[in-house]
Amino acid sequence: MTLSFDPDTLPLSVGHFIGERLVEAGGVIDMHRPSDGKAYAGCPLADEATVDRAVETAKKALKANNWGGVRPRERTKAMQRWADLIEAEAATLAKLEALSSTRPVGHLVAGDIAITAEQIRFFAEFADKEGSDLVPTDDNSLGMVMTEPYGVVGAITPWNFPVSMAGWKLGPALAAGNAVVLKPSEMTPFSTVYLAELAVRAGIPAGLVNIVLGDGPTTGNAITGHPDIAKISFTGSTGAGSAIMANIARTGVKPMTLELGGKSPQLVFADADLGKAAEEIARSILSNAGQACVAGSRLIVEESVAGTLVEAIIARMKAVRPGPTWDEASQYSPIISERQRGRIGSIVQAAVAAGGECLTGGAAMEGEGYFYAPTLIANVRQDSPAVTEEIFGPVLTMQTFTTEEEALALSDHPTYGLASGIFTRDLSRAIRLTRQIQAGTVWVNRYSRSRDHILPTGGYKRSGIGKDLGRDAYLANRKSKSVLISL
Ligand code: NAD
Repeated sequence: MTLSFDPDTLPLSVGHFIGERLVEAGGVIDMHRPSDGKAYAGCPLADEATVDRAVETAKKALKANNWGGVRPRERTKAMQRWADLIEAEAATLAKLEALSSTRPVGHLVAGDIAITAEQIRFFAEFADKEGSDLVPTDDNSLGMVMTEPYGVVGAITPWNFPVSMAGWKLGPALAAGNAVVLKPSEMTPFSTVYLAELAVRAGIPAGLVNIVLGDGPTTGNAITGHPDIAKISFTGSTGAGSAIMANIARTGVKPMTLELGGKSPQLVFADADLGKAAEEIARSILSNAGQACVAGSRLIVEESVAGTLVEAIIARMKAVRPGPTWDEASQYSPIISERQRGRIGSIVQAAVAAGGECLTGGAAMEGEGYFYAPTLIANVRQDSPAVTEEIFGPVLTMQTFTTEEEALALSDHPTYGLASGIFTRDLSRAIRLTRQIQAGTVWVNRYSRSRDHILPTGGYKRSGIGKDLGRDAYLANRKSKSVLISL
């Protein structure tokens, strides 16, 4: 079966998914395909009334199906059927995702989509594994901590991995007994809507998964400020995360999980397996053309091996195979928009004007679409925007060190603390540094999350609050109640 497709003939259902059907709505936000720049569809804009309708539908569905109160195994079984259907429909999901996003269709079926199905099974299994805690009291009392679902959870996701990000939100929220109103990015809505359709087809009661389409200021705000949405789960930029916190503070008080931006360093010591380090570092900045929250965008390498390592990374950067996301042979992603490609170019130019040396790349790629060449800049100052700002593109900066203290100082970012990589054969050093690095994830001699969804993910500093994935994500979707019974 070939996954390549003609983007002009792919059927699209444009509308919100509320209850068990698509609510047809006019597309008002222009959408352009990153692979060729062509305007191809419009994304609808849900206003407060539409968000209200989705929330009411969710509340009714929770009540009618007693989703939070059934035997947890019933939730597990329904979600497992959903995961099976996601796998069975992977080709369609992949095409819908590849059309509007930057993810090449060839990376999706065995990658993002298979992993999402696995993660949904993982969370489904938590539903009956939690158990409550009995607490020590005197002989005449029984004390315990019970947990309960929140009710309706509001979720907002970014454009860079649409199916994966929706899975991260829907999986734990549903397994924990909640209903969800989710807004995907206005740039990449179609695969998320299809994911919801599959949930209903799999037997998850209609109304528990609702997708409303629109932008941040209108639709996003209506979700975060809605009085009947009890909890917010957000993934996106630190700027939008701050705006969401402000709106929640203005409209009420509710718990939130915020997965935000990053500017992650990779520390390479002279004793590391340099071949392996080059492979991991190149993959981390080339994957999705660097448009990943955990992109390892700052290389900090021991001076004596910098030349050898950089040569190996550049060879990989030069070997990328760009191509439209709907061509199965394409390996390298376009940038999401013309505007974002321009921003990448400006930061690179400013770094070069300030004395940075561009060792490869440094320009937009010729031809259709918003492709930008993989770029490596050496001699950058610690306060250069190329080092401090989340570029969200295929740009790797390189800084060198001679002592471990220097490496640690360079790796520390004033505001971000999402992830970090350490490459060394010295286990003591790896553990010593892991303890000192201020980041929510530290990878040693590798740089990827891969299929390890048992590990929670989240940021230190302004990279976020709370965790996605792992047991933490399940528990974040339940609130606890302390109970003391007099005997
Ligand atoms: P973005 O912040 O522009 O948008 C993310 C989502 O939030 C979109 O759906 C958008 O419509 C919505 N939004 C924007 N402003 C809002 C507001 N005021 N209220 C409510 N909703 C609002 O981010 P993006 O460009 O879509 O994605 C890239 C960003 O996401 C990067 O900063 C990246 O690091 C981050 N990200 C983080 C993780 C993580 O796990 N930490 C994962 C993926 C992406």
